[in-house]
Amino acid sequence: MQKTKYIFVVGGVLSGVGKGITAASIGRILINRGLKVSAIKIDPYINVDAGTMNPTVHGEVFVTDDGDETDQDIGNYERFLDCDINSPNYMTTGRIYLNVIQKERAMKYKGKCVEVVPHIPLEVMERINAAAAASAAKVMIIEVGGTVGEYQNILFLETARMMKLKEPDDVALVLVSYLPVPSHLGEMKTKPTQHAVRTMNNSGLQPDFIVARGPDELDKPRKETLVANCGMRSENHVISAPDVKSIYEIPALLERQNFSELLAKQLKLKLRNKKNLRWNHFVQKVKTSEQPVKIAVVGKYFGTGNYTLSDSYISVIEAIKHASFAHNVKPELTWVDSEEYEANPAKLKELNSFDAVIVPGGFGTRGIEGIIAAIRYVRENKIPYLGLCYGMQLAAIEFARHVLHFTGAHTVECNPDSPYLIISANPTQAKNIREDRYGGTMRLGAYRCVLKKSSRAHKLYKADEISERHRHRYEFNNEFRVQMEAAGLEVAGVNPESDLVEIIELKDHPYFVGTQFHPEFKSRPLNPHPLFMGLIKAALAEK
Ligand code: GLN
Repeated sequence: MQKTKYIFVVGGVLSGVGKGITAASIGRILINRGLKVSAIKIDPYINVDAGTMNPTVHGEVFVTDDGDETDQDIGNYERFLDCDINSPNYMTTGRIYLNVIQKERAMKYKGKCVEVVPHIPLEVMERINAAAAASAAKVMIIEVGGTVGEYQNILFLETARMMKLKEPDDVALVLVSYLPVPSHLGEMKTKPTQHAVRTMNNSGLQPDFIVARGPDELDKPRKETLVANCGMRSENHVISAPDVKSIYEIPALLERQNFSELLAKQLKLKLRNKKNLRWNHFVQKVKTSEQPVKIAVVGKYFGTGNYTLSDSYISVIEAIKHASFAHNVKPELTWVDSEEYEANPAKLKELNSFDAVIVPGGFGTRGIEGIIAAIRYVRENKIPYLGLCYGMQLAAIEFARHVLHFTGAHTVECNPDSPYLIISANPTQAKNIREDRYGGTMRLGAYRCVLKKSSRAHKLYKADEISERHRHRYEFNNEFRVQMEAAGLEVAGVNPESDLVEIIELKDHPYFVGTQFHPEFKSRPLNPHPLFMGLIKAALAEK
């Protein structure tokens, strides 16, 4: 087998400038040239995984097939690289230290004094090598979270330094930096990036490439400044990456500057002359789709400003885009705070102006009654509906309350004393909660689901059995299944091992589907998800 090549992607100046998308786009351009690529995300925090972090602060928790709760960038990689990324490809400081400490307790260091350096970077390296072997990738992209100069990621930079020292031809370093254009100056400034490079130099690292993010194109004089002051090999090694309308255009933007050739030259890689027609075709649709499809996303978590909310539900947004562009329509998303419906039920009428409604995953009591009211409205007024996880659980509760007249029907999460616990906790989960065992204990990752032949889901998936990813603690309570089905709530998919309900549907409705799993995690630009496709199709038919 050929040796794996490594591309470290680190950030400078600002966080949130699209380091993850840049890393994913580098992966895409190399795949387009015939290479097998995988990607690793390193997060510098102590949390063992992203599962215990608040999504309004940290962004979406992305779930892998093998049940890891990871950073949203793993989702970007899966979407851009069009392959599954698994747990070995995600690490945090907490996870690395935990492994080292467990090894020490197991006498794996054979009596040595275990030290931060070299044992922590060695552990990181071991994990990188294991991930590379597991994915059989020719190129492994490694994104280091945070920005250079932070105390938190220094040990990961040290890992990069050690790897490059050992095999200089196998490791490339890309700095994704930001070049601001202060409004009072009206010109792009290179100095913060120069400082970022100096900071890298202090860690023993010199970037091979700078990806210059900014509001505008990087012009020639500034490129020359960066080459001169940052010790760059040539102007070609400074890549301009101005803001673009759609993230999916970024691979082409990088490729126009020959980035794949330059990387290949440095890493001594052979490229194939391969055109990616499918990716280009998708980007074309992104650019040309004009007819709008109006979608309301109803839930809580939306009160913290645009930037945050779109990060909390990034996979949902991307799944909507994939399915919409596949139908040549442009999605227009409106975030509806369900608490507004609690304060003012007359406002529910606004839902008529949307072509479809989605209730995404969520936790806790806040805003729940408003969501249930919205689900009732779309059920009764035949507005296409897709409920994701909590959106499925609350749809079941709404049905129990208003069709079966089970007054006070609820989920154990919000009212454990309800006479009708439509959503309940199984004994394992009840024990986890009693013992405060929260981290990594939800029902996580891929589970099988057998579809009922006559269901809408079966028609959309065109399969008898599917596999989808989960992240939830509570479940549909099978004690109520017979009554609910008799009243018209169809159980369209069930896990064959546990008999847990995975999909519910309503027949007498243009589109009403709820999934206990999260279909959004498996939607890809080149492979839109069947249930989102079904929703958009129904939305357009109802228009
Ligand atoms: N709060 C619900 C549960 O834990 C749903 C979780 C979700 O929507 N991801 O079961």
